[in-house]
Amino acid sequence: MDSDISEAIKAGKVSIVANVILTIVKGIAGIAANSTALIADSLHSMVDILSSAAVWIGIKIAETPPDKEHPYGHFKAESLAELAVGIAIIFTAILIMYDAVNELISGRSPEFEIYALAAAVFSAVVNEALARYKISVGVRTKSSSLIAEGKHSRTDVIASVAVVLGFLLVYIGYWWADAVVAMGIAVLILEIGGEILKNAIDVLMDRLDPEFAFKVTSYVEGIRGVESVNFVGVRGTWRHKIVEVHFTVSPGSSAEDIEAIIKRIEDIKKEIPEIKEIIPVVRVSKKISKVAIPVDENGNYTGDLNAPFFEIRDLKKGTKMKIVNEYREAERRKGYLIAEMLKNVGVDCIVLSKVGEGAKSHFKNAGITVKLSEEKDIEKIIKSLDLS
Ligand SMILES: [Zn+2]
Repeated sequence: MDSDISEAIKAGKVSIVANVILTIVKGIAGIAANSTALIADSLHSMVDILSSAAVWIGIKIAETPPDKEHPYGHFKAESLAELAVGIAIIFTAILIMYDAVNELISGRSPEFEIYALAAAVFSAVVNEALARYKISVGVRTKSSSLIAEGKHSRTDVIASVAVVLGFLLVYIGYWWADAVVAMGIAVLILEIGGEILKNAIDVLMDRLDPEFAFKVTSYVEGIRGVESVNFVGVRGTWRHKIVEVHFTVSPGSSAEDIEAIIKRIEDIKKEIPEIKEIIPVVRVSKKISKVAIPVDENGNYTGDLNAPFFEIRDLKKGTKMKIVNEYREAERRKGYLIAEMLKNVGVDCIVLSKVGEGAKSHFKNAGITVKLSEEKDIEKIIKSLDLS
């Protein structure tokens, strides 16, 4: 295993062990001294263990490879676990709130016990040490989740310092301080629960982050031959994403062109590592931009491949030009040769009065649509194309 990863995992384990100790110490001291704030802070430490555990379980579950019945993998099981943990955490916050309000209503206040004060100070010191440790390992191993955890431990320091202040305030006569501190901690816990819940719901709802969609869209649109991106969808978690992208290629694209584009699209996995799978869906643009019309020396429509010239109409620019049909006399592979010639000048549509199956498939392979028309007037032919 990568040494960076094992160091980050070790930091996670240290943090869990420390929080277990803090939960027990604060829990016992809080109950003995009758301090809602200290009990709340103990539950806070427990909630932190649960939320780290949810991440851990998630990583383990996400490792389970896809199987026949779960072709997209098992990442939603992680979200279901988070959903349960999130609800439990929010419930804890509500419980603390309820206790604190009761404490206020009944005018209760904790006894000032030196061991309770010591437990809160101990918690603040341990959390500060944890914060420094996790942030430094996080920076060294470039683990953003560990840095986030470290910052969270700073919040834990503030919570424990608040408990200490609450005790001191109660000691000098402000009996309500303990309940108020407990409420503040309940709000912190509520935030943790809300965050976990939101994350789980985002994954379950296949939410697409606009910034992520923009990254994928600009990557795919940057590939030569891609005309536009029409749809980006994502399934999975922030670590493990399955992306579906629909894109349009220009009408002249061959099967080989599309193959090459798809290869380039798959390279996005190197650029955005959380993308584990990308599903490209190709659409060939139906928009006609350049039409070839077979004409004779006088510029009249002939409707067949024996015509001496092709009139090339650029519908976007509104220009026209005439090219010589070099292959009108060809005895073999005439359809193929003409299709390639027209493809090279960017033609994506040809108008004929009739076409054989062989020639038709050559045009199709060259990305050229065949339109049938018996109309003599070229302007009318063009008009009918515009309408389609
Ligand atoms: Zn916390």
